[in-house]
Amino acid sequence: MNYEQSRSLYDRALSVLPGGVNSSVRAIQPYPFFAEKGDGGHIIDADGNKYIDFAMGYGPLLLGHDLPEQVQSAVQKRASEGPMYGAPTEVEVELAEFVVRHVPSVEMIRFVNSGTEATVSAVRLARGYTGRDKIVVMESGYHGAQESTLVEGEGSETQPSSPGIPDSFAEHTITVPFNDEEAIHDVFEAHGDDIAAVMTEPILGNYGIVHPVEGYHETLREVTEDHGSLLIFDEVITGFRVGGLGCAQSKFGVTPDITTFGKIIGGGFPVGAIGGRAEIIEEFTPAGEVFQSGTFSGHPVTMAAGLETLRYAAKNDVYDHVNTLGEQLRSGLTDIVADQAPEYTVAGTDSMFKILFTRDGPDEMTDHCESGCRQRAECSRYEYCPKDGSDVADGQTERWERLFWEAMKEQGIFLTPNQYESQFVCEAHTEEDIEQTLEAYKEAL
Ligand SMILES: *Cc1c(COP(=O)(O)O)cnc(C)c1O
Repeated sequence: MNYEQSRSLYDRALSVLPGGVNSSVRAIQPYPFFAEKGDGGHIIDADGNKYIDFAMGYGPLLLGHDLPEQVQSAVQKRASEGPMYGAPTEVEVELAEFVVRHVPSVEMIRFVNSGTEATVSAVRLARGYTGRDKIVVMESGYHGAQESTLVEGEGSETQPSSPGIPDSFAEHTITVPFNDEEAIHDVFEAHGDDIAAVMTEPILGNYGIVHPVEGYHETLREVTEDHGSLLIFDEVITGFRVGGLGCAQSKFGVTPDITTFGKIIGGGFPVGAIGGRAEIIEEFTPAGEVFQSGTFSGHPVTMAAGLETLRYAAKNDVYDHVNTLGEQLRSGLTDIVADQAPEYTVAGTDSMFKILFTRDGPDEMTDHCESGCRQRAECSRYEYCPKDGSDVADGQTERWERLFWEAMKEQGIFLTPNQYESQFVCEAHTEEDIEQTLEAYKEAL
């Protein structure tokens, strides 16, 4: 493949954009390819190279790159009528009604412009509602570029993970390892009365893909309820991807107090949202006292794209298609891994997938999960499969990033560029794409 155009574009970009990009993860070494356009389940770069795309914009593109007619025309109509007003529009109400109808824990919702803004506002809301300052997040959990959750360290011994954030932010943030029930009990025993909320992704989607062990979310639900704290599910990735229109919370049968959304809910345009029980969400201004506001919030073009995308998904068996292909892909990968690298772990559910380059595994694969790790206690791999972020980080992350990713790209498969970011199947992918992808994995692993 030839990358001359991308190379010279990156050269120009480096002069005017820090690191040559507008979001850190895009700065693939030595230089990223520049996207020219999408084509269904494929992406075409500035040099005309075509890849099967499993990054899917890092999650927002449930339908792939070719928006169905009803989405395209809604977007174009809204854009041409004047993109935004600063006055409310009907389409905001319609998208809110759609979410409230399909996600049982959501009685009211506030739309914002990014997942980051959603988690920032959710944390402020939880603090305002409970009158408490501390929040609990998962070690290496990702909730966007926000001061309160950009922390490193364990338990109460946390510090900011980026310069520019005063230590005093981290003082109010406690971390626990995902899937560790003892740790969460200990933290609540020590600080229960000061904890405003526990915030977690239902499935870690930004640090490998890590499935919850049985009973973990029920424990979080119980312990927060017992102490008058809130449970926040960050469904920015899993919302309207895992568990279909009911989101991951319906798949796991757990009811959070607050849910943050983003990515898919805007149909490919910038979006975020905070939903939950009316009594809590109504604490946002102007109904309540917790300040929240935004010039672009509920943007009509975004609202139309999100609404028509979700309506299309509801009417056209989109989840059947992407989940079936996801399962085919994961079970194909499991067979390949059994042959070529039995220590590795195939992770993911619904339309999410990733191979975790775990270092240790059983000698033989028996009674293992057939299409993605489910953390089944009776599985022969259970002792080995990553349970939290640090287990994922203990894998062969350098091999993943420096050798494996490149070997896949050279075969025309675009994966997210490190061990940690999830990968996604979309509506436009075909069985042929899956077969071609499995062949590439066979070569590259
Ligand atoms: C992507 C993501 C965010 C941040 O969303 P942005 O739109 O990038 O600000 C927050 N939480 C989770 C779980 C995410 O995956």
